[in-house]
Amino acid sequence: MRIRFKPLAAALLVASSTLAMAQQQVVNLYSARHYATDEALYSGFTQATGIRINRVDSDDAGIVARLKAEGAASPADVILMVDAARLYRAEADGLFLPIRSTLLENAIPANLRSNAAADGGISWFGFSTRARVVVYDKARVKLEDVDTYEKLAAPVNKGKICIRSGSHPYNLSLFGAVTQHMGEAKAEEWLKGVNANLARAPKGGDTDQIKGVAAGECAIAITNSYYLARLMRSDKAEDRAVAEKVSVVFPNQASWGTHLNIAGGGVARHAKNKDNAVKLLEYLASPAAQNYFANGNNEWPVAKGVTTDNPALKAMMGPAGTFKSETIPIGAVGANQTKVQQMLDRVGFK
Ligand code: FE
Repeated sequence: MRIRFKPLAAALLVASSTLAMAQQQVVNLYSARHYATDEALYSGFTQATGIRINRVDSDDAGIVARLKAEGAASPADVILMVDAARLYRAEADGLFLPIRSTLLENAIPANLRSNAAADGGISWFGFSTRARVVVYDKARVKLEDVDTYEKLAAPVNKGKICIRSGSHPYNLSLFGAVTQHMGEAKAEEWLKGVNANLARAPKGGDTDQIKGVAAGECAIAITNSYYLARLMRSDKAEDRAVAEKVSVVFPNQASWGTHLNIAGGGVARHAKNKDNAVKLLEYLASPAAQNYFANGNNEWPVAKGVTTDNPALKAMMGPAGTFKSETIPIGAVGANQTKVQQMLDRVGFK
C-alpha cells in the first residue's frame, strides 16, 4: 500500500519524530509472545508514557540464547516468556534483575510470581494464567474417572491417555506441581501409572492430543486451556468440529485445584532503561492492559480483581463462571523440574 502524506500531516510527523528523538525514551523488550493484540497493547503503553518499545521477537529458547550471548552488553530491558519452568530456569541462569514495585506486588498474587530474593526483590511476575486441563471423549470415558490428576494413573484409564513429551516445560511444570502436592515418592508412582496408561508414545503438541481424542486415537488428553479455546474460536470449521467433539474438565476441584501455569516476565539483568522497564511491567499489570494481554492467547488475567471476557474461556468454565486453581507458589513448581526430569527417566516416561 502506498501512503501519500498531505503537507500538514507530513510536517506533524516530522515534528513528532523530532520530539521522540529529543526525549530518547525507549524500552527494549525481548518477547516470546507474538500475538496480533500485543500491538494495541504496546501502542497503548507508548501513548500513555511516551516511551517507545523496541521489540525483539523470538521463542523462549531463542531469547535465553541471545541474552547469554550478549551478556552484560545486552540491550534487553524487559523479558517476557511463557511457562513457569522456563521463567524459573532463566532466573537460575541469572538473566533477571530482581526489582521492588509496590504496584506489582499489590496487583500480582504472591503465588504467581517468583520467590522474593533475600532483599525482597522479585525476578519475575505472572501476567496471564493458563490451566492444564483434561480433555476427554464422553462416549468412552466417565467424567468421574478423569476429574482429578490422580485418576489419570488409575487402571480404568489404561490405553486411553495422549500427552506431549513428559520433558516439555508444560509437563515439567504440571508434574512439578503434582510433586509439590503429593510428595516425591507418590508423584513418582503416579508418573509410572500415567505412563502405563498411555494410548501411544508421547508426540506432537497439545493441539495434537486434542485432535487425537476427536479422531478416536485416544480417549483422554492433557492440554493447556488456550489450545482448546483456540480451536473453539477458530475461523476454520474443522477446528471447531474438533472442539465440539471433546469434553473438558478442570481437575481437582474438590481438592488442591487445577494446575495453573503462567506467561510472565521481569526486568533484564543488564537493563540500561530500568525505570522504563518497571513502568512497562506495571502497565502490563493494569486492569486495561490485563484483559488485552490475556486475550491475546486466550488466557486468564492475573491481576487481582480483573476477570476475563473471553467467550471460549467462559464457555469452558460453564455456569459456575470460575474454577478452583491451585495456590502453591509457582516458583516452587519451577524449582522441582530437575527432580521431575530424574523421575521421568527412572520410570521411562518419554
Ligand atoms: Fe503453548
